[in-house]
Amino acid sequence: MRRRLAAGNWKMNGSRAALAEVAALVAAHPAPTCDVLLCPPATHIVWMSEVTSGSPIDVGGQDCHPNASGAHTGDIAAAMLKDAGASHVILGHSERRADHGETDDLIRAKAETAIAAGLTPVICLGETLAQRDAGETLAVVGRQLAGSVPDSAGARTIIAYEPVWAIGTGRTPTLEQIAEVHAFLRGGLRQRFGAAAEGMRLLYGGSVKPENAGQIFAVPDVDGALVGGASLKAADFGAIITALEAPDAT
Ligand code: PEP
Repeated sequence: MRRRLAAGNWKMNGSRAALAEVAALVAAHPAPTCDVLLCPPATHIVWMSEVTSGSPIDVGGQDCHPNASGAHTGDIAAAMLKDAGASHVILGHSERRADHGETDDLIRAKAETAIAAGLTPVICLGETLAQRDAGETLAVVGRQLAGSVPDSAGARTIIAYEPVWAIGTGRTPTLEQIAEVHAFLRGGLRQRFGAAAEGMRLLYGGSVKPENAGQIFAVPDVDGALVGGASLKAADFGAIITALEAPDAT
């Protein structure tokens, strides 16, 4: 039985003042029946961890370097994220794949380093609209799954299916399309990781909002969501947490 997860990705948004939203979330959801994770910019991990201290809400980073340490100006090591209070790290987000040319090999190396540092990776994958229109969705996500997820991944490793064309656009795939990809990914994880695959959570990400969360969470093999825009406001993210707590969510 996988515990469901609501994960928020603040991207390059937020401020110290915005941490008031996190305080409001902590107050409104003192004992959620799902896991809750918030990933602010690295500069805000320590401050956010102070706000969530004593609550069940976890804090994560949005990226780390594949090396454990060294001469890499401007980069952040997995162990530093951990030291700052992070328990998780998002890796291979489509914005990093696009903006920084991140490849599956690089993402796999980052995930290996993160796991070795004691962080839980949230490894993102998903097709572009052109790839979906060309009927390549399963081939693309299958390739990304094989290439981005390291052999050292275990039951704690989290995969987020995020169609690139659904991120920040207000567009979402049909429930059938989400179900097809999640079933395919679960099958791929089972083939590769055997029993451990039953513990690996599969998140859907891409324009999840309070209005559509309940329907998406009822799709088989959707174990939660990776949420961008709607994670910035306590009321919106709180409503998504409440939808995930509903008994008919998978
Ligand atoms: C994301 O950034 O991972 C994401 C899913 O964004 P949004 O919810 O805003 O589409």
